[in-house]
Amino acid sequence: TEVAGTYVFGFAEGNRDLKDLLGGKGANLAEMTRLGLPVPPGFTITTEACRSYLTDGQEPAELDAEISRHLGRLEEAMGRTLGDPHDPLLVSVRSGAKFSMPGMMETVLDIGLTDVSVLGLARRHGDERFAFDSYRRLLQMFGATVLGMDGALFAAALDAVKARRGAALDLELEVDDLHELVALFHGLIREHTGRDFPQDPREQLRLAVRAVFGSWHTDRAALYRRQEGIPENLGTAVNVQAMVFGNRGMTSGSGVCFTRDPASGRRGAYGDYLQNAQGEDVVAGIRNTVPLADLAAIDPPAYAALLGHLATLEHHYADLCDVEFTIEENTLWMLQTRVGKRTPEAAFRIAATMLDEGLIDADEALRRVSGAQLAQLLFPRFDPNAERTLVATGMNASPGAAVGRVVLDSDTAVAWAARGERVVLVRSETTPDDLRGMVAASGILTSRGGKTSHAAVVARGMGRTCVCGAESVRVDLDQRVLHLRGGRTIAEGDTISLDGTTGEVFLGDVPVVDSTLVRHLEGEDVDDDLVRAVSRLLAHADDVRRLEVHANADTPADAARARRFGAQGVGLCRTEHMFLGERRILVEDLILADDDAARTAALDRLFPLQREDFAGVLQAMDGLPVTIRLIDPPLHEFLPDLTDLSVSVALEDLRGPEVERHHQLLAAVRRLHEQNPMLGLRGVRLGIVIPGLVAMQVRAVLEAAADLIEAGGDPRPEIMVPLVASERELTLVRATIETVAAEVQLARGLVVPHTIGTMIELPRAAVTADRIATAAEFFSFGTNDLTQMTWGFSRDDVEAAFFSSYLEHRIFDSSPFETIDVEGVGGLMRTAVRLGRKTRPDLGLGVCGEHGGDPASIHFFDEIGLDYVSCSPFRVPVARLEAGRSAL
Ligand code: ADP
Ligand code: MG
Ligand code: MG
Repeated sequence: TEVAGTYVFGFAEGNRDLKDLLGGKGANLAEMTRLGLPVPPGFTITTEACRSYLTDGQEPAELDAEISRHLGRLEEAMGRTLGDPHDPLLVSVRSGAKFSMPGMMETVLDIGLTDVSVLGLARRHGDERFAFDSYRRLLQMFGATVLGMDGALFAAALDAVKARRGAALDLELEVDDLHELVALFHGLIREHTGRDFPQDPREQLRLAVRAVFGSWHTDRAALYRRQEGIPENLGTAVNVQAMVFGNRGMTSGSGVCFTRDPASGRRGAYGDYLQNAQGEDVVAGIRNTVPLADLAAIDPPAYAALLGHLATLEHHYADLCDVEFTIEENTLWMLQTRVGKRTPEAAFRIAATMLDEGLIDADEALRRVSGAQLAQLLFPRFDPNAERTLVATGMNASPGAAVGRVVLDSDTAVAWAARGERVVLVRSETTPDDLRGMVAASGILTSRGGKTSHAAVVARGMGRTCVCGAESVRVDLDQRVLHLRGGRTIAEGDTISLDGTTGEVFLGDVPVVDSTLVRHLEGEDVDDDLVRAVSRLLAHADDVRRLEVHANADTPADAARARRFGAQGVGLCRTEHMFLGERRILVEDLILADDDAARTAALDRLFPLQREDFAGVLQAMDGLPVTIRLIDPPLHEFLPDLTDLSVSVALEDLRGPEVERHHQLLAAVRRLHEQNPMLGLRGVRLGIVIPGLVAMQVRAVLEAAADLIEAGGDPRPEIMVPLVASERELTLVRATIETVAAEVQLARGLVVPHTIGTMIELPRAAVTADRIATAAEFFSFGTNDLTQMTWGFSRDDVEAAFFSSYLEHRIFDSSPFETIDVEGVGGLMRTAVRLGRKTRPDLGLGVCGEHGGDPASIHFFDEIGLDYVSCSPFRVPVARLEAGRSAL
């Protein structure tokens, strides 16, 4: 029989590589089917059909016929027809996009039940309660997801019936109650949609498929995609699958599990199980689940079978898998699998263990972890020795240390976070509507639900700290307080601390300490399997990477730390901080100097201080290059604020020379005042305008280096000129540098190895890089300024003002100040690399903006052939790892 069509594939026809077409869920259902695991049969309607629906507003013409053909096959295989009055086949209609979007999209269970077939189902199983429970679930899900009704309407009716019956759980409802609920639900649907619940099973199916297609465009799904960087135009596939029933009494149930612990990465199956339940009950955290291990006692054969399938899957995928399963009267069914989300800690442990187990090779292990995950492991944790009051314990759903004020709903979370508060979102359980609040919060605490609940899954995905299922916490939305064990309460607005690694909740603001990994990198002797896992993967990254990693370090301490963290040099040593603090007065003197003598005197006093600064950094990086940038910021930054100064001049009762100086300062501040200081007198322009400044700095660098050489050291200074736009600027300054270098070397009687280069941070420099390279031995891309100057966005004010709108409209998917804008800024960089190397094939090339530590940007810098990236010391391990991954 010819069954493969354009838009519909049977589970037996697909495989895991077809995620584009079948979505992740469909492709993996197909893969499990091929592996011979017990998967209820069904078929997948492709993402192509969805895209076509979303573009045209109607299903493609062939779709209905293809669905009929596949449904016919399914009915044949099951020996039942959809919605048959005597013995109905029921199906689920399940969304499934290429990238998993947990809880974002719709799924409808029990399609095929009608007023008539529900009786057939009851008779066939001899279980009226089960049949009507399934029917009320269908009405509820269909109403809320397909007919677009407010789910709260159904929940309220359900609660009312439960309250009258005195039932705490859905399970305690009797057949009569369920009859009544079905009637109530029918009424609600009629009242709110103006039509009856469709009694034609094919009509139900058609509407449900359409609803799943449409759910691609819900606000929450769009928000999730924006968060996760998932493209907007993919669409979702729809899986239609024969129902199996976890709600047929205590020999049935539903569960979710992982082949390893997704929080720690340690071996051993891990999950939650709920007897007499359909899957949504587990994930929604409506009732409290039992740990998977309890299934061993509840149903030993099913448990053994499950463990077998988990082993098969983990071996086949060679990765951590998560699984949704249902047991119907002691028979196990596999309903979903995918490569599971995991915490950063788990990612490193799993990759290193699977490497040991021979399941994957070292390259693959490196692919399995990311710089973003490593960055999380470098975060501080709560100080174990600090005084703390434990007020509750839940499950360690997503690691980290979060401190913030308690907020009880997402609106509050968003509002408080917007005014700069750190908040912890506390909910009984979260729903997809809480996504905004979760994004705004630094941590999430729930009182219900396991490690596979919505809160846990989403928090892990976002890297938010989360403790879930803290049962002793009761959220009281009326009083806006949390009730805790022992009568204690915490009001909204009070501060709590969440430890996502242990599941503990503390009162107040618990102090934090360095991570174990940082302590290891700092040279402390720590015995820890996670540290070993990370070190192993970092070592492999170092073996395979081409790109060097340097650090931005202005002080000897930073330079030394960077070196311990694996930096191969200093890519940016800023000299401006060396002019601040008590030295500011010397800079004032320099600016106020009105003749050569006064200027020289001021520079002479700055000189020894600078020499000392440079000596420290060069020494900390002995044997490695240190790129020292000449002074860059506008001079007025070193002077008092204009208003403050005017006020003090006006008010203060100053005497003699003080008055004189203040008036001089005020005049200087007025003279130097600029509307756009970032476009003003800064960078190389200062060196050209203020005689002696460059010479003093260069002399300080080279004298410091000469001292070190005499002491047996191996300093490698590289002098870098900032904000160059034209070759002429650089040749002017270069001449000064060369003169001073010749003088110092002659005077000291030794050769001080050094190079002279420039920053490329203005578009003009990028497009004239061939000329600039005649006077530069190296380029370092200052991507912060280059981004600012290319987009015309002020890097100091822009982010808050309109970037959120830009992100919303997807003008860009992340701030160009965080991740390099490959097309625009990246295009200029490519040009500069090409032109620069044309003039000077051995031109040194690096990047020293914030982007140097950003994982996505690092791959781009590797691709365009830079020699190194330079980033802050704490990002050095992250950059090493990503440079390694980029080389794979
Ligand atoms: P999500 O993508 O939100 O996890 P699913 O499509 O996986 O949604 O459906 C949620 C749950 O519904 C599943 O975990 C499973 O327990 C239940 N379910 C889906 N299809 C079936 C089916 N054919 N038989 C029984 N239960 C099902
Ligand atoms: Mg699922
Ligand atoms: Mg700059």
